Amino acid sequence: MNILVSGAGVAGLACARELGTRGHDITVVEYGRHLRLAGTPIDIRGDAIEAVDRMGLLARIQKQRVRMSELTQFVDSAGEPVARIPMAEISDSDDDIELLREDLVRILADALPETATIRFGDSIETLTDGGEGDGENGGGVDVRFASGRTGRYDLVLGADGQHSVVRELVFGPEEDYLRHLGVYFALADHPGEASTEGANSIYNVPNRMAGVFRYKGRAVAVFQFRSEPIDYDHRDLDAQKKILIDAFAGHRSWRIPELLDAALADPGFFFTSASQIHLPSWHRGRVALVGDAGYSPAFLSGRGTSLALTGARFLAEELERSGDDHTAAFARYEARQRPYVTFAQNRVYSGRDRMLPTSWAAIAARNEALRAMRTTPDGPQRTTPRLAGENAE
Ligand SMILES: Cc1cc2nc3c(=O)[nH]c(=O)nc-3n(C[C@H](O)[C@H](O)[C@H](O)COP(=O)(O)OP(=O)(O)OC[C@H]3O[C@@H](n4cnc5c(N)ncnc54)[C@H](O)[C@@H]3O)c2cc1C
Repeated sequence: MNILVSGAGVAGLACARELGTRGHDITVVEYGRHLRLAGTPIDIRGDAIEAVDRMGLLARIQKQRVRMSELTQFVDSAGEPVARIPMAEISDSDDDIELLREDLVRILADALPETATIRFGDSIETLTDGGEGDGENGGGVDVRFASGRTGRYDLVLGADGQHSVVRELVFGPEEDYLRHLGVYFALADHPGEASTEGANSIYNVPNRMAGVFRYKGRAVAVFQFRSEPIDYDHRDLDAQKKILIDAFAGHRSWRIPELLDAALADPGFFFTSASQIHLPSWHRGRVALVGDAGYSPAFLSGRGTSLALTGARFLAEELERSGDDHTAAFARYEARQRPYVTFAQNRVYSGRDRMLPTSWAAIAARNEALRAMRTTPDGPQRTTPRLAGENAE
């Protein structure tokens, strides 16, 4: 089949790899001018590890493993460590793989078969699904791109992230599906910071955190803050930087001013909300959604990348199994993936409360609880790594 994928993030590239190696012709259209490589380390967990193993990429991915979370500590305003991240609570198992988002994106892009190509600097503008009939548009989806190009595809996959244009065009406006969790996240390069591996620091003031993370010769400034939904243009970096500056106005303790300066100076600044996408169904006609576009669990869950990988795998397997009957395949993809999504989307609130206590007293209580946890002989229980519904058919 001739398949169009919108978005060259983890979901889009994994779809291109999984479907391209099964003999489909894949065009990935990415609105960035190149692969978007920003991002702190992400996690590959549970059955997503098997998904990358089946793609033949596990060894390459394991080679890039980092252990950033283990090296992360909460500090006070003098920079003194006051508590550590409870690894056993945030990871599913010792098999979890933490690696830089950019390394994963590069590995997936390098592994694309010849049947898959990425077209940068373009985006879908309109989609007309001709359904199954033989009429003028029958049997395909007609697409017009922002560049003016047009094309007809057997299937279109929306893997274009939280603000998916495919979802908007086929399922309707974002506000119908987006649940804001009351937190924003920002990330910026910090070239002035010594980049040697070492402890990563997180500092809290009520409802806000700022931090410095170092890995692989780089240092980045990270921020989170609680807020009601803010209306902003997702492509206007200056507007997003201003939102961050305003959120930290009046806070000058620890290294906050220096980190905000790094954010202002970074042309690759990344800003997003912790938001989930909830849709009753992820497919309509010849169009399906994969990854954050269809079921973002929010970064607070630490599971968005794993969902993108299992989603791409289930979709490709089901298309293969159904002999390209996309209606049956999409339904089975959804039945297999849904339990993973429900699990991930239900797991965000403890992460938010730990990262962003709402008062000085709550910050002190969090630190106390984390220190107590470290001295408990058995430590906290790990979470369930695999789901009963994983093979639901
Ligand atoms: C630059 C960047 C940095 C990130 N940093 C972090 C992080 O630090 N921590 C974290 O937990 N998660 C981060 N994420 C999100 C994380 O990558 C995803 O939650 C997860 O990997 C699932 O990926 P996805 O492919 O579904 O979505 P995404 O990773 O968001 O990828 C979507 C892709 O689609 C492209 N796209 C968007 N709109 C269009 C359009 N209209 N037409 C064509 N292409 C389009 C985007 O440029 C992007 O390449 C980041 C995402 C991006 C894009």
